[in-house]
Amino acid sequence: MLHSNDDSYIVSFLKEYKSTIVCTPFSLSITSQSEHKLIAALEELQKNSDEQVATKLELDKCKRIVQKLRSHSDDCAVCKQYFIEFEEHILQLKEKQHSLTEEDFKQHKQTIDKISSHLIKQHKLVTSGYYLSIYMSIGTSLGIVLGLLIFDNIGIGLPLGIGAGVAISASLDADAKKKGLVL
Ligand SMILES: [Zn+2]
Repeated sequence: MLHSNDDSYIVSFLKEYKSTIVCTPFSLSITSQSEHKLIAALEELQKNSDEQVATKLELDKCKRIVQKLRSHSDDCAVCKQYFIEFEEHILQLKEKQHSLTEEDFKQHKQTIDKISSHLIKQHKLVTSGYYLSIYMSIGTSLGIVLGLLIFDNIGIGLPLGIGAGVAISASLDADAKKKGLVL
């Protein structure tokens, strides 16, 4: 009698222990193999869908997201979790790629936005053209102010300001790209 009680204790212990084992994939690191597999899945999706759908799904951006998530996954638990979520999401998308609904596109965009905002906030990544948008508006306002103050002519100041903004942002964008910081 006592013996069978012991057994049931062991069984329940093992059951509990097993559930922790099942959870441990989250603590293992993401291999480059799973990165390549996911990139291949995205490329296949790209190949099999028409251009309009591929653009709507932002598949090129998806590939960059996969690479960034994996490169940060060793140090960032959130990136690791997002990689696993994204993997599942892409595989689901691939399964029903010929019957995608508006709801699917919406959900896909939300997923991308959620992950992008983590990468931008936590890992200091920038979206392509990020500096252009910032320095264009700085250049424009500076051009107007300088045009009024120095040249007494907005028509001269404005193109100078915009030109400077474009030049500065182009060099910053190129620099960020070189450092692999562009999402
Ligand atoms: Zn992260």
